[in-house]
Amino acid sequence: MTMRRVAIFGSTGSIGTTALRVLSRQRERFCVSALTAFSNAALLREQEVEFRPAFVGLVNNGASEHGTWESGRSCLIAAATRDDVDIVLNAVVGAVGLDATLAALEAGKRVALANKETLVMAGDLAAAAANRGGGEIVPVDSEHSAILQCLNGRRSDEVRRVILTASGGPFRDWPAERLARATVQDALLHPTWRMGRKITVDSATLANKALEVIEAHYLFDLPYDRIEVVVHPQSVVHSMVEFVDGSVLAQMSVPTMELPVLYALTHPERVIDTGVGPFDPVACSPLTFEPVRYDQFPALRLGMQAGRAGGAAPAVFNAANEQAVALFLSGRITFNDIANAIDSALETLGDTASGNREALLAVDAEARVHVRRLHSC
Ligand code: NAD
Ligand code: MG
Repeated sequence: MTMRRVAIFGSTGSIGTTALRVLSRQRERFCVSALTAFSNAALLREQEVEFRPAFVGLVNNGASEHGTWESGRSCLIAAATRDDVDIVLNAVVGAVGLDATLAALEAGKRVALANKETLVMAGDLAAAAANRGGGEIVPVDSEHSAILQCLNGRRSDEVRRVILTASGGPFRDWPAERLARATVQDALLHPTWRMGRKITVDSATLANKALEVIEAHYLFDLPYDRIEVVVHPQSVVHSMVEFVDGSVLAQMSVPTMELPVLYALTHPERVIDTGVGPFDPVACSPLTFEPVRYDQFPALRLGMQAGRAGGAAPAVFNAANEQAVALFLSGRITFNDIANAIDSALETLGDTASGNREALLAVDAEARVHVRRLHSC
């Protein structure tokens, strides 16, 4: 068996630490050749001692104190293009992950992609980079991992539609009056997943599901009218694919990111010793499904509309959402302000044509300024 060499970007985050836990059980199959983090030097150092990567990068916060560590934003690109890296697990949060994804695809690497914001803002650029360089994207997101597994190599014209499941988040059954008063603390209490703060808020607004609809469009080459969302509070069915004959395949497991993270590294193979125990359908039951309450969670519809509009609209949606979530987390705007800010940014900038990397970064920056101005920040 050839050893596959993995670089992990965002190694100190929720997905990054999950990935290292998974890799610690797969040492005969994978080694860790590069690690990068944003500012958590202490945890990065512990990871370095345990996994002995050839490359360590700390974007912020005094890399120079740590001898051979690289620093600054460029350390992600340096790591993504190294000869001793076969797979890049991009688990940074937000549009800042774009250049690392593009560089890795251009250098012919497999990108195990958790950083969905990359594909949402620049799906066409990622596809072009993969074409040029021979790289490939394999999704880490549990829904897209499920779809990949259900598709099992089938062509998109054999698919009637895909149905993405959504847990519904912590506010699934909250009435409108209560939602208007939702606090940061309320939003961070996700019922089924423990994740980073940004994606946890995205799961409360359902903006996360909009990002995932757009991600599915690019990953599987599916038109938007063949991508649907259903609420499934138990997070056991990770998504479904309905084929043209009416047959539906679903992928299930207990809610753990360990499986989709590992599968993104091993696809199309499956491995043993995953550390995930046997599936018990009785313990998981009942499994229930509900329609999405689009009126209470307008960010989902706005994101789906931005996807359909195309051009730079998905990048505007993503950037406005990132900025609004940051303002919400710092206590400067309310929960409902997040969707209102996205709406306003799309209203003003949503018609912008798509373009190259520089054009997309410019519209991303404009959308953030727009949202900050709305709230005089
Ligand atoms: P997190 O906040 O726990 O971790 C984010 C990581 O990104 C940190 O390790 C940090 O070091 C790094 N980072 C932050 N800003 C950076 C910057 N400017 N430059 C370089 N690195 C930076 O987030 P997470 O929950 O692990 O999510 C990471 C990505 O995975 C997100 O795109 C999220 O949507 C996606 N995702 C997460 C989950 C999950 O279960 N956590 C599931 C599906 C998809
Ligand atoms: Mg997901």
